[in-house]
Amino acid sequence: MIAYAERFVPENEPHEAEPPQQDHGIDSVPLNLQLQGTVDFGASSAAMAARDFGGMRSVTPLAVIRPAGSDDVARVVKAALCSGDLTVAARGNGHSINGQAMSDRGLVVDMRTAEPDRFQILTKGPDGIGYAVVPGGALWEDVLRVCLTFGYALRSYTDYLGLTVGGTLSNAGVSGQAFRYGPQTSNVTELEVVIGNGDIVPCSERENPELFFAALGGLGQFGIITRAKIPLQPAPDLVRWVRVVYEDFGSYRRDAEWLVTGREGESVDYVEGFIFVNSNDPVNGWPTVAIKPGQLLDSSQVPDYASHPVLYCLELGFNYRRTDKTSTVDKVVGGLLGQLRYVDGLEFQADVTYADFLLRVKVVEKHARANGIWDAPHPWLNMFVSADDISEFDRLIFRDVLKGGVGGPVLVYPLLRSKWDRRTSVVLPESGEVFYLVALLRFALPFPQGQSVTQMVEENKKVLRICDENRFDYKLYLPHYKSRDEWKAHFGGQWMRFVERKVRFDPMAVLAPGQRIFSRSF
Ligand code: FAD
Repeated sequence: MIAYAERFVPENEPHEAEPPQQDHGIDSVPLNLQLQGTVDFGASSAAMAARDFGGMRSVTPLAVIRPAGSDDVARVVKAALCSGDLTVAARGNGHSINGQAMSDRGLVVDMRTAEPDRFQILTKGPDGIGYAVVPGGALWEDVLRVCLTFGYALRSYTDYLGLTVGGTLSNAGVSGQAFRYGPQTSNVTELEVVIGNGDIVPCSERENPELFFAALGGLGQFGIITRAKIPLQPAPDLVRWVRVVYEDFGSYRRDAEWLVTGREGESVDYVEGFIFVNSNDPVNGWPTVAIKPGQLLDSSQVPDYASHPVLYCLELGFNYRRTDKTSTVDKVVGGLLGQLRYVDGLEFQADVTYADFLLRVKVVEKHARANGIWDAPHPWLNMFVSADDISEFDRLIFRDVLKGGVGGPVLVYPLLRSKWDRRTSVVLPESGEVFYLVALLRFALPFPQGQSVTQMVEENKKVLRICDENRFDYKLYLPHYKSRDEWKAHFGGQWMRFVERKVRFDPMAVLAPGQRIFSRSF
């Protein structure tokens, strides 16, 4: 084990960090793959695989594989293993920030093409629950659409559904439903995984449980998820979508924590929240709070910027059926809102279909594409911060470092540790039941508007420095590190378990090289 641990990536800067790789020519790629799908050496495919949503890192693969199914994925992994030095990166929808789905002169497997239509909805399992059996490369938005046609919904989502099943299950997958159902990694019952020797292995809590839990939140290190079985529930028809504004973080967190610890049926179905700048800045300020066009935040109702540079917006969702009377929905929602301490009158509501609610970020994507910022760099920082430190985080970071905004949403909402399965590879802050998701979702605007990418990256580093100096209990979500020591510190007490899982399921470190945790063995 120790000998293995010695072979990790070196401890320096990203590009220099990677050991010089052998320059593969096309001839060195095994040509007897016999795939049902395709192998593409073309420049445009390579350019696609050398890009991600973060837009800050780019390494070019040797080839892009478009597999037709799990057998193709297995053949590619076996071929890479035999090659001696090739690596294989599964690429979901390329929505990583720091090149996690890339492979430097290796093989990128475009998972979106693997059996995209092979969706199976099991209307009743033996335990009376519906399940969706879906390919690892399916987009969650497609899974949702298929489920809805059968009257089913998922339990746990991400805010944006243009992400793949395998991509989010390799991280965690969190949104406003996670306080009740846990992350997406807590909402999957079976996987099919292609491990580092090319075997296709079915796994679940009962069958090959070590692989099942390793792969969930495993950053793609232990296998490529080619299929997942997801439990479903009856779909509601509509959502009462509510936003309420707070002046102070104390009241905001009290209410948010009260809601997420409330009993199902007596609380809400969705809880998120964000901070915004107390100004009319269109990207970071008051205009970001309205739900519907025409709604405006009445600034005469908020304190001045000097005393309150940022304000807090709690975002809630109440699911209901078309057959429910509006007066009943009003009564339930009104009853809950009546117990919250937001600023009187600073309340926004809209009734939307369940699908529109879940696909709400699609609308943001459309606008961002139209004005060019969807394809601009996104130096995002995502973290889980213990509730013990979140008020200090607010004082030192939200109200100070970030008081001018980040050029995009800043999410902050509570989650419950007991909804996360400790057997998965995900790591959380050490202490307490409640911890917060903090997400700085930065969009780099074209010069000279807003901060430059470099300034944004520096500000992220400053945030982390403050967390470290104050010994905050936090973990990066969608982590990205440059050195072995940083990865070890990230995993903390679970580092050896992570290494042991690697040794067991991908001992030659063929898989997911873009995470830069392990280096390929020869
Ligand atoms: P990729 O970025 O392509 O891959 C991510 C990693 O997983 C890579 O290491 C890759 O090699 C590996 N991988 C990909 N597919 C597989 C597979 N089938 N099997 C094994 N490994 C695989 N996250 C949340 O939790 N909640 C959110 O609300 C949320 N919203 C987002 C909104 C936007 C606009 C963006 C850009 C990201 C968001 N994310 C969110 C982050 C998202 O979960 C990650 O980017 C994640 O990596 C999924 O993206 P992807 O499917 O494109 O995977």
